[in-house]
Amino acid sequence: MSARAGIVVTGTEVLTGRVQDQNGPWLADRLLELGVELGHITLCGDRPADIEAQLRFLAGQGVDLIITSGGLGPTADDMTVEIVSRFCSRELVLDAAVEARIGEIVKGMMARFPGVDADAVPAANRKQALVPAGAVVLDPVGTAPGVVVAGSPTVVVLPGPPRELQPMWHAAVATDAVQTAIAGRTRYQQQTIRMFGLPESGLADTLRDAEKTVADFDRLEITTCLRRGELEIVTRFEPRDTATYAALEGLLRDRHAREIFSTDGALVDDQIAELLAGRSIATAESCTAGMLAARLTERAGSSAYVAGGVVAYSNAAKTELLGVDAGLIERHGAVSEPVAEAMAAGALQRFGADTAVAITGIAGPGGGTPTKPVGTVCFSVALAGGASVTRATRLPGNRSDIRERSTTVAMHLLRRALTGGG
Ligand code: ATP
Ligand code: MG
Repeated sequence: MSARAGIVVTGTEVLTGRVQDQNGPWLADRLLELGVELGHITLCGDRPADIEAQLRFLAGQGVDLIITSGGLGPTADDMTVEIVSRFCSRELVLDAAVEARIGEIVKGMMARFPGVDADAVPAANRKQALVPAGAVVLDPVGTAPGVVVAGSPTVVVLPGPPRELQPMWHAAVATDAVQTAIAGRTRYQQQTIRMFGLPESGLADTLRDAEKTVADFDRLEITTCLRRGELEIVTRFEPRDTATYAALEGLLRDRHAREIFSTDGALVDDQIAELLAGRSIATAESCTAGMLAARLTERAGSSAYVAGGVVAYSNAAKTELLGVDAGLIERHGAVSEPVAEAMAAGALQRFGADTAVAITGIAGPGGGTPTKPVGTVCFSVALAGGASVTRATRLPGNRSDIRERSTTVAMHLLRRALTGGG
């Protein structure tokens, strides 16, 4: 048994990329938690023929459940309910109770917009109260109700704004119609292993070996992806295959002990936040312009452990704000390991911190030289008491890739320094 679903994301603003789709990925996570297999997320604009084509496509794939997002509003381009109604061969009927409910919500809202044309309101309410005959109506979170139409497939129609869609999805899942549609679901487990410093080809080699040595390896659904310079290995499996997954994890640990930094789903950012509890960190950045400081301050509690940071581009700023010896910059260049080390030492002192990280590199086009091409970045981590780690790397990509990747490298150097991993 299994249950499969498809998601239709609608909206011209999403199709054109003006608004980035949040609903597809969010619903995908919820389906995964439920043990429903997601086959497709399709994306189209507000044109009825296109929306209908996607419904037809997904139904043709034999999914048990289709979820749509968007197009429930009062305006003429919001037509999803009407299209779904036709698609499910249901008549569109006025639900008087829903109309009254919308009327109440709108009255409350109107009080805040005294200029709005009150004559247009009943018509808009009425449009939103038209639902497929026999459908389960989901109470509005904004003004638009959602609907669940039972059948093969069952169709759940949800509004576009994520803050409306999310609570309404939980209401939809609670309905008998959706429970019946996903009755065949299987509870999967999902585990994530994260690595840093291993090329994808190295992982591919290990997985090829795992295929031969781990019994029932093919029962694991493994997805690997390269993100921000980290390798993420996500494995899905049924509870009875827990031992198989443990064997895979054991093999990965044996082969890549140094590169694996997380087996429990934690991000390096979470780990750093934990490692910094009770400490005080300062940053000194040039090419990343404060991005590392921003990343370090994203977690709860960060105001306790982030003392501050300096962004220093010019040599004078490095000297005046961080106490970097001008002669050192002269001799080695601003992008060099000795200067990175001096910047970290300077930040440590300047902020009276016990931990400091420095980044100096060439991220922008035109900044490179034959010996230090674009992408050359030097890092240094300094700990009170004299311990420090300094490294130079060459990072690929354009300016934003290099800057983002730099903050990741810095996070990992920091992690190694704080865990004594060297
Ligand atoms: P409304 O009553 O607000 O019109 P609606 O159900 O008709 O709701 P849409 O018209 O499709 O929804 O979208 C309204 C707004 O919600 C969009 O302009 C966009 O800001 C946001 N939105 C819609 N779909 C998505 C999505 N997939 N991801 C993120 N935001 C979305
Ligand atoms: Mg709309």
